[in-house]
Amino acid sequence: MKVHLINPSALAFGVGVITPRWLYVLAAATPESYGDPIITDETLDPWNPLTVSAGDVVGIGIHTGNALRGYEIGNLARARGAYVVFGGIHATLYPEESSALGGAHAVVKGDGDLVWARVIEDCGRNAPLAMYDGGKVEGGEFKPARWSLLPPNKYMWASVQTVRGCPKHCSFCSVWKTDGQRPRQRGVDAVIDEIVDLRRRGFRFIALADDNFYPVTLEDLAMAARRQDKSRLEELKAMRDERFELMEGLASLPNDMVFFTQITMEAAEDPEFLAAMKKAHIKGALVGVEAVTPEGLKDVYKDFNMSGEHLVDRLRAFRHNGVHVLGSFIFGLPSDRPETFNLTAELAERSGVTFAQFVMLTPFPGTVDFAAWEKTIDPKVEQIDGVPITRHWLIPKGKQPKVYVPHPLMSPDEIRMRTQAVWDRFYSWRNIWARAHCVESMKSRIAFVMISKLYRQMYANTGIATDSARINRSATWARLIAKPCQRLFAAPPMPELQVPARRMSELQGV
Ligand code: SF4
Repeated sequence: MKVHLINPSALAFGVGVITPRWLYVLAAATPESYGDPIITDETLDPWNPLTVSAGDVVGIGIHTGNALRGYEIGNLARARGAYVVFGGIHATLYPEESSALGGAHAVVKGDGDLVWARVIEDCGRNAPLAMYDGGKVEGGEFKPARWSLLPPNKYMWASVQTVRGCPKHCSFCSVWKTDGQRPRQRGVDAVIDEIVDLRRRGFRFIALADDNFYPVTLEDLAMAARRQDKSRLEELKAMRDERFELMEGLASLPNDMVFFTQITMEAAEDPEFLAAMKKAHIKGALVGVEAVTPEGLKDVYKDFNMSGEHLVDRLRAFRHNGVHVLGSFIFGLPSDRPETFNLTAELAERSGVTFAQFVMLTPFPGTVDFAAWEKTIDPKVEQIDGVPITRHWLIPKGKQPKVYVPHPLMSPDEIRMRTQAVWDRFYSWRNIWARAHCVESMKSRIAFVMISKLYRQMYANTGIATDSARINRSATWARLIAKPCQRLFAAPPMPELQVPARRMSELQGV
């Protein structure tokens, strides 16, 4: 009996941007007695069903965007006599769907780190349960990924997780519902060990694949300090101290390392934290800006963000501390007006963000926005090929509509057109070249231009997902430049690298 782990994708690029971490975490969670799992990431190459034999276990991880391809794989694997197990965010939200449409024998809800071994054992006994609840595993129990199984020279960035969960509750995001609002921080030593393992293998660019790298804000501390009972304050301080300890650990790693994370804008108001990020080689961060007006921020329950000139100041503060920002902006918010698009483009340029993405407000399953949108649709009337559009991810590719939250004034086409124009403006050759001056050498500038164009090709598919000709053109282009980009990120392996001595002496109490 072999164990297969599959990351479904309708498009293969030959090279991936970031390692799909869950594959290697579940590989680590697979009991040794079953041998090395066979891992397929379809963003690299399509899966071959002939690799599966009767009695094998096939684990498929899905999010909404790849659920349909995941179900295809599940049915093919089941037809070959394998045990089919689904997990991931989408399977957690809609477990019954994987059984009804994906040929699942079992579905795992929540974290797979601990429960996966039991699922395999049960399959081995020919007695898998229909449902397993992996729950929310504590930070100390997160499995380190088994990077020894990674194919060489296939990914630009590796990924390591330091915290799961986010205390916020943004309306368009499902993280706080699926991963919970209580941050679960992983021990510093486990994180550093894993990064050392990756650097030995030639990865110097590492994405800290966290929901929110800054889970305790100065405002949280101030609020807790005002309470009579100081226990919450102590708890928050301990979490904050642990973040600093982690950043100390990162700072002690080789100087050529570059970390990227996801963080809320509030970190920009915390000079001590920014300084620690700089020391820790955290040189990039995805910041959810979402909207540039106070009304827009209210629309998405994100009024802890800044707007207007304050926003420009916050984003620049990251830059002044050596942190390049990938700003994420949402269009189609109820308060957006036609002039919002230019205002946003202008602000994105002025605030010094290095990269930006502009997405249309989409009701993703598991979010507050989705629940509100679903109520406005009559599933018996609004269907395509018999599938209600509230389950649009099940509509066959080619007919699948892009679904957006309806806007009070603008049509989806108008929002789409205007959003595309903002992408075009931000990623024009002239603007990219101007931003390329954030790096010194000519070689680095050329690399910056290539990466900007690659990013544009891979992610700017605003509203054109049904246009398969354009998707294919985009994918061909991305495939062409992905390989040279991968080489730019690769570093000479450091097989001799040890866990930094300073950390070791701390551990030994020296
Ligand atoms: S968008 Fe970011 S800050 Fe908001 S809930 Fe999701 S992870 Fe947290």
